Amino acid sequence: MSDTAKATRFPAHTVTDSADCLICQLEEVDDEATVFRDDLWSCELPTGYEVPGWFFLRARRHALGWQELSQGELDSLGQHLKDLTGAVAEATGALAIYSMNFGESYAHFHVLVAARGADVPADRRGGNIVNLRGERLDRAEALKLVPQVRSAYRRALEGR
Ligand SMILES: [Zn+2]
Repeated sequence: MSDTAKATRFPAHTVTDSADCLICQLEEVDDEATVFRDDLWSCELPTGYEVPGWFFLRARRHALGWQELSQGELDSLGQHLKDLTGAVAEATGALAIYSMNFGESYAHFHVLVAARGADVPADRRGGNIVNLRGERLDRAEALKLVPQVRSAYRRALEGR
C-alpha cells in the first residue's frame, strides 16, 4: 500500500510508521511482561498503559488496522480473544472483561483487553474505563498479574 493511501485511511495524528510504533516496540519487552507469543499474535503488558488488568493482544507484524490483517490472523483472532479474556477473568476475578480496538493513536492492529473489577466506579465503566490510564498506572501491580494470566492462558490451551 502506498503512503498516500495510508495517509487518507487514518487521522493525521495516527502513528502508521513502524519506526515510531509503540506496538512494534512491545516485541522487545521482557518475558516478565509477556503473557504469550505465537507466530501471528502476542500479548504483553502495554508499555505506558500499565493499569493492573490491562493487556494488549497484538498482531506481531506491523499490520495497520483490520484492513491489513491476513486471513490467518483473522481466523485465529477469535480463539485468542476467547482464551485471553477467560484467562484475565480467572486471574483477576473480574466479572466484566472488555475487549477494545481503537487504532487511532497507533494503527498497528491491537486489542486492549481490560479487566473491569468491582472496584471500578460507575463513571469509569464502559468506554470510560480508558480514563484509568491517567489514574491507576501501576507497573509493579500490573506485572504481578502476568504469571497468573499466563498460567490460566496455558490451561485454556491445554484444555482444548
Ligand atoms: Zn507496529
